Amino acid sequence: MTLKELRRNAHNRLKEQPNISSPELDADLIIMFVLDLKKDELLTKDISVPDALAIEVNAYLNRRLAGMPVQYIVGKTEFMSLDFIVNKNVLIPRQDTEILVETVIERYKNVSEQIRILDIGSGSGCVGISMARYLPNSVVTELDISEEALKVAELNAEKNLVTKQMNFVCRDICDGISDLEPKFDVIVSNPPYIKTDDLLELQQEVIEYEPVAALDGGDDGLDFYRIIIKKAVPKKGGMTAFEVGIGQAGEVAGLMFKAGYRNIEIIPDLAGIERVVLGYAA
Ligand code: GLN
Repeated sequence: MTLKELRRNAHNRLKEQPNISSPELDADLIIMFVLDLKKDELLTKDISVPDALAIEVNAYLNRRLAGMPVQYIVGKTEFMSLDFIVNKNVLIPRQDTEILVETVIERYKNVSEQIRILDIGSGSGCVGISMARYLPNSVVTELDISEEALKVAELNAEKNLVTKQMNFVCRDICDGISDLEPKFDVIVSNPPYIKTDDLLELQQEVIEYEPVAALDGGDDGLDFYRIIIKKAVPKKGGMTAFEVGIGQAGEVAGLMFKAGYRNIEIIPDLAGIERVVLGYAA
């Protein structure tokens, strides 16, 4: 079979499943992964594909048809124009989260001293590692309750050449951060924020494949904002910045204000959805 034929067949197979929102892209990612091709090679080469590889492509297409997210199938994704390894132990980085990272970078890019950043609930490390990459004078601590997730974050730090800027801490944020001295200039988090009762309404792909601990924010979805605001305060004048779920910005801003944060801002994403809440420690 030629590459063109393989590609056409793969597109058609994924297009038959109406729940797959980007069938052609997903099929291409799988083919590039199995045949070890770059995008331009996929589009221009017309090689003949050995049967064994065509069979392998079909096996991966079957996983996609069964609902497995393509990022877990190929074991990687892109975030902030950087490559990240992902597996079932970490949430797949979302484009929605780039606004959190961009906001922090924008505010600290002209600071010449060292910037100490803490990323709570690091998962794959996408948030902290992109900050380390784009803020070369930052040092970033990745904190997560899951040892398995931190292993992925460590690999991602290596992949993105920022290992020297990174520390990894495995703990429950409920245990606080008072031993992590000196205090941080910036605390960021994209915590689990889905209401427990809403978990079952998520897309099947999310609830069946992504780690539930990375999604479940308790009865009102705000458990982790309360815990982080109480247990992790940056240094005086330092900033805490959160990603929030749709409709949560006002409440999270209120929690921050009550805890003594000032100059609180709510930042919308490109679609106008309030995505980031930040404030400065008084
Ligand atoms: N910080 C990681 C991300 O933004 C993980 C978030 C999470 O697991 N809730 O993708």
